[in-house]
Amino acid sequence: MIVIAIYPGSFDPITLGHLDIIQRGSRLFAHVIVAVVRNPNKNPLFTVQKRLEQIRLSTKHLANVEVDAFDGLTVNYAQMRKAQVLLRGLRAISDFEVELQMAHTNKTLSHQIETVFLATSNEYSFLSSSVVKEIAKFGGSVDHLVPPHVALDISQCYAQNSPVSNQIKTEVIPPRKSLPMESPTTETLRE
Ligand code: ADP
Repeated sequence: MIVIAIYPGSFDPITLGHLDIIQRGSRLFAHVIVAVVRNPNKNPLFTVQKRLEQIRLSTKHLANVEVDAFDGLTVNYAQMRKAQVLLRGLRAISDFEVELQMAHTNKTLSHQIETVFLATSNEYSFLSSSVVKEIAKFGGSVDHLVPPHVALDISQCYAQNSPVSNQIKTEVIPPRKSLPMESPTTETLRE
């Protein structure tokens, strides 16, 4: 039986943690489709087009991995692509709660589709796209967390809006101009 797996996510941007799941998934399944969710509720750092490029470049050595984007429900996309498996990664208990709820919800939508979880590799258990963006925002290096071309994209992105200083800025408040003594006007005296 040829099993096709969808690995859905935001991948904003792809990290070495994602890449690890993709590589291991590609050894388990005949075909893996890394699917970028077009989520209008999130405010992404990279456009969907840029994320597709980043993932394609990162996975070009994996012959059975395809990269795509989709709108709407993941199960509908999986059915459309004739996939039997949704591949997800688990890092911590916090992931588990959300992922289990999502897997149960998806099961109510399509009984044929199974969610398969891969435990994160130890070295990436702390890693998320948000962690990468947080470090880069303050000018730190993310070379050890993302593929080299993604690190370059990130540094270019933050170079345009120079990294937020992590020093506390002290606001200099100019001395107030001394106002002439307000003397009661005839109007205020009349009240
Ligand atoms: P989402 O917006 O769906 O959370 P992400 O791009 O953050 O999308 O993650 C996609 C999937 O990859 C999720 O299943 C997530 O748990 C998993 N994942 C993310 N980072 C890691 C990591 N460092 N190790 C293992 N799995 C990960």
